[in-house]
Amino acid sequence: MRDDHIDLRSDTVSRPSPAMRAAMAQAPVGDDQYGDDPTVDALQQRMAALLGKETAIFLPSGTMANQIALRVLTRPGDEAIAQRGAHVVWHELGGAAAHSGVRIVEIGDRGEFCEDDIRAAFKPLGHAVYPPTTALWIENTHNRAGGTILPQDDVVAACRVGAQLGIRAVLDGARLFNTHVATGLALSELAGPFDLVSVSLSKGLGCPIGSLLAGSRHEISQARRLRRMFGGGWRQAGILAAAGLYALDHHVARLAQDHETARLIAESLSGSAGIRLELARVQTNIVMLDYAGNPARLPAMVARLAERGVLVSHFGGRQLRLVTHLDVDEAACRRAAAIIAEVICDEFEREPRNA
Ligand SMILES: *Cc1c(COP(=O)(O)O)cnc(C)c1O
Repeated sequence: MRDDHIDLRSDTVSRPSPAMRAAMAQAPVGDDQYGDDPTVDALQQRMAALLGKETAIFLPSGTMANQIALRVLTRPGDEAIAQRGAHVVWHELGGAAAHSGVRIVEIGDRGEFCEDDIRAAFKPLGHAVYPPTTALWIENTHNRAGGTILPQDDVVAACRVGAQLGIRAVLDGARLFNTHVATGLALSELAGPFDLVSVSLSKGLGCPIGSLLAGSRHEISQARRLRRMFGGGWRQAGILAAAGLYALDHHVARLAQDHETARLIAESLSGSAGIRLELARVQTNIVMLDYAGNPARLPAMVARLAERGVLVSHFGGRQLRLVTHLDVDEAACRRAAAIIAEVICDEFEREPRNA
């Protein structure tokens, strides 16, 4: 990426600020495999407290957090239930099958589902032929649905049904801080109904690397063993944990700005020729839009946008995803929206109609 590009491909592309780098440079560190890194310990304790869990473990990625969570709560041959489009199903290269031997059943549509969907997908332990359902997986905000927030009443109801059925619950909270800022609900309330919760530092919080998995002492000690087994045990990771502590101090409240800039982009694109987008689904820092013309044109359109200095993601089918973050300010977002509208409109109007 060139520095003059407006990069809306993801909120993972943001780079650590000079102040964050300074905090990293000054962090006291030790060998985390010996339990000797005070900065890692501080981050783990602070995140566990924020999420209202007994303890937490610092991990290299959100994917590893999810894969470990699944492995802790399931046995090979089990089934898990997740919202349609879940990251753990679509974006983790089949890790659930490879690492845990688990199949995931997707329920609902576009991140939404009801209690009956859970009951309908549920398969009891001890049945003669069914693979037992042992985990309920909820993503909040939901990435592929467009950064949408699952209403907390629905979350509570879903986990209650899960608990009645004897299923453990996992929250993929890679963007839970966005939910927290957008709803004003405490992180501990959002995380409350879940046994295990993963959160990412390298998305909207702007850290270079890192996720945490929080839960009970017993289950996080199993996670610690799995982290080492998966090759994610690390040493002076306090340098990275310091970025996390810095982000918790300085980058949480400002997520509201990312939500405003996403809104600004969506409002400016809504109604443009060739673009279909639902403003009501733009709830946090993600804008999903559908190209109304021939979807085969999308890769070329993405390349054309890149030539104009705007980077976006083709999310399959006719979808483009734009994500705002701390490295794109309001002026950049206005400029990007104007360029996106112009390029898409031009492509759309050049398409042969009635073909
Ligand atoms: C980004 C993301 C993850 C984890 O991603 P990593 O790139 O492995 O850190 C997990 N879940 C969701 C919903 C995500 O958006």
